[in-house]
Amino acid sequence: MSVNRSNYEKIIGELTPSKTTLVAVSKIKPLSDIQTLYELGQKDFGENYVQELIEKAEALPTDIRWHFIGHLQSNKVKYIAPFVHLIQGVDSEKLLAEINKQGKKNNRIINCLLQVHIAQEETKFGFDADEVSALVNKITSGGSVFDNVNICGLMGMASFSDDMQKVKSEFETLSELYKTLQSSIPSFNTLSMGMSGDYELAVECGSNMVRIGSLLFGVRN
Ligand SMILES: *Cc1c(COP(=O)(O)O)cnc(C)c1O
Repeated sequence: MSVNRSNYEKIIGELTPSKTTLVAVSKIKPLSDIQTLYELGQKDFGENYVQELIEKAEALPTDIRWHFIGHLQSNKVKYIAPFVHLIQGVDSEKLLAEINKQGKKNNRIINCLLQVHIAQEETKFGFDADEVSALVNKITSGGSVFDNVNICGLMGMASFSDDMQKVKSEFETLSELYKTLQSSIPSFNTLSMGMSGDYELAVECGSNMVRIGSLLFGVRN
């Protein structure tokens, strides 16, 4: 499968009025597909695997903003710290501390989103609402100092379900949490939720960043 240009244009048209950022999820897809979408004007791309991200970043234009959206192991942060634009799946304080350390080494401030577990499925990574609130309180009260990370907001994935009522209530829960935390962390400006199957609903519920793969690049094997 190659890039679905008409879906891309449709999605951009839908997201532009609400200024929602589209992250094109290019995991497992070839360089040529990313290049094609880049030439249509797309600058934000999301990857799930460290090694794949490094290889793609080396080969492709340097003004691409690379989002790491997968589960990141602490010992791999160092490989992406020099260039990554946004690490979306921060799911522990330990990982945040390592990103901070690597940010310092690279003399940069690394943008991060805290991943919140909103789906009922047990396997998803992330903080629960109480844990994320506790971490934010700890940081805002000076209990943990991370000078080389910029915590921009939250990221979440809803259940894989046809029950749109359920998906909607998960998005609303995350959106409420985001608004609550935003009042204590002024740097919060990003709520990343919504994928190919549910992005319209996510935007209705307050998302301002969607991560879309299969609608743009075709289904993954
Ligand atoms: C793969 C992936 C996506 C994109 O999924 P699609 O259903 O193909 O749009 C979005 N977010 C995360 C975290 C992913 O791993």
